[in-house]
Amino acid sequence: MIEPIRLLSRAEREACLERAGLNLFRLDAEEVYIDLLTDSGTGAISSGQQSAMMAGDESYAGARSFRRLEHTVREVFGLEHVLPMHQGRAAERVLNFVLVKPHQLVPGNAHFDTTKAHIEYARGRCLDLTIAEGHSPTARHPFKGNLDVPRLRTVFEEYGSAAVAYVLVTVTCNSGGGQPVSLANLREVAAVCREAGVPLFYDAARFAENAWFIKTREPGQADRSVAEIVQDMFSLVDGFTMSSKKDAISPMGGLLVVRDSGLFERLKMPTILFEGYVTYGGMSGLMMESLAVGLREVLDEAYLAHRIGQVAELADVLVRRGKVPIVEPVGGHAVFLDGRRFFPAVPEDQFPAQLLCVELYREGGVRTVEVGANLAGRDPDTGENLRPAMDLCRLAIPRRVYNREHFEYVAEVVAEVRERRASLDRGLRFSYEAPGIRHFDSRFEVII
Ligand SMILES: *Cc1c(COP(=O)(O)O)cnc(C)c1O
Repeated sequence: MIEPIRLLSRAEREACLERAGLNLFRLDAEEVYIDLLTDSGTGAISSGQQSAMMAGDESYAGARSFRRLEHTVREVFGLEHVLPMHQGRAAERVLNFVLVKPHQLVPGNAHFDTTKAHIEYARGRCLDLTIAEGHSPTARHPFKGNLDVPRLRTVFEEYGSAAVAYVLVTVTCNSGGGQPVSLANLREVAAVCREAGVPLFYDAARFAENAWFIKTREPGQADRSVAEIVQDMFSLVDGFTMSSKKDAISPMGGLLVVRDSGLFERLKMPTILFEGYVTYGGMSGLMMESLAVGLREVLDEAYLAHRIGQVAELADVLVRRGKVPIVEPVGGHAVFLDGRRFFPAVPEDQFPAQLLCVELYREGGVRTVEVGANLAGRDPDTGENLRPAMDLCRLAIPRRVYNREHFEYVAEVVAEVRERRASLDRGLRFSYEAPGIRHFDSRFEVII
């Protein structure tokens, strides 16, 4: 859909920043010119989705819209049992409620923040087994989301299979910068899991973008269709959770899908308790229609080439024209600016990446999000601020929304701020630090 956007004057933007306490989550969308806060639920609905939504069946049980969604999921992924959820995190809650016993481990590649929180809420523990290259902003590797297979083997040898609830691979790895996982790595991980008798799941929010990277980067895959690669990827797993706000290009929704009918039966009770009856979960009929159409549209290779190309192009302009320090190679859904290298004079404990987010809005009305020291929060045991390996400002690209002119504009705004970097040698401190998940509601002030 098309929406008008308006650039406020500099004085208005200054006033907005002041009111928001230098936290861009606290801005109204109308105060933003180019919104790169997230790619979640912000994609444009297609005419195909819009027309399917008009036929949404809102029956409580066994709705036609559910059957269409179920049929699509079975065809696209090859797994049988489908539970609709209101978001990805709802699927995580239901799955972990059933699969995780206290003190059990869930090894994976940099679990997403809600995923980690849900595993811990079920009294399990996450183990991040991403390969070493995945933790460096400059290491060159085509699949920085890969799991370290020898370390996974060691986990099984040291703790035994019974200590591991399941293994979770996130495709693409959001927390690692939208980095993909190779098909070869997925196969190896699946073989280790099978040998240990432990289930393998995907966090599949960006499954199609991952399949596109397999097609374009992995030897021997170039001539296969993305749809075939998706079939291959999902033939390896026992099930998956999915936020359908990402690659399924829907405003709302999620999925929990499993192969085994026994596990499906065990998942029904918590689904009904937390979400709704099993044929709608947390979704309306019209959202299930939108999701079913989105799952097919995202497999269109012309779309994927455009989408991944757009992200790469923005990164290219930033690096070539502005010499801007970013995380490389770029992933599928966002470009990450390296706050510490962008503002070398700002001390690391003064939130350089958050400062960069603030300055991009001040300069040009561009909204981004900090993925760094603010997001990381405090150690629950010591109360000390955590110091993550990277302090990043994320420019997430909504699907089917912006075009090249918008990105040229964004690149200019970044370049303007970069030119002023010598005058920006002081960072931020909290004027109010929200408890718990602090980044959504905290407020900052400039240190003077
Ligand atoms: C967005 C996301 C989730 C959570 O999904 P919601 O729909 O926001 O609840 C889980 N995992 C990954 C990788 C995600 O990107």
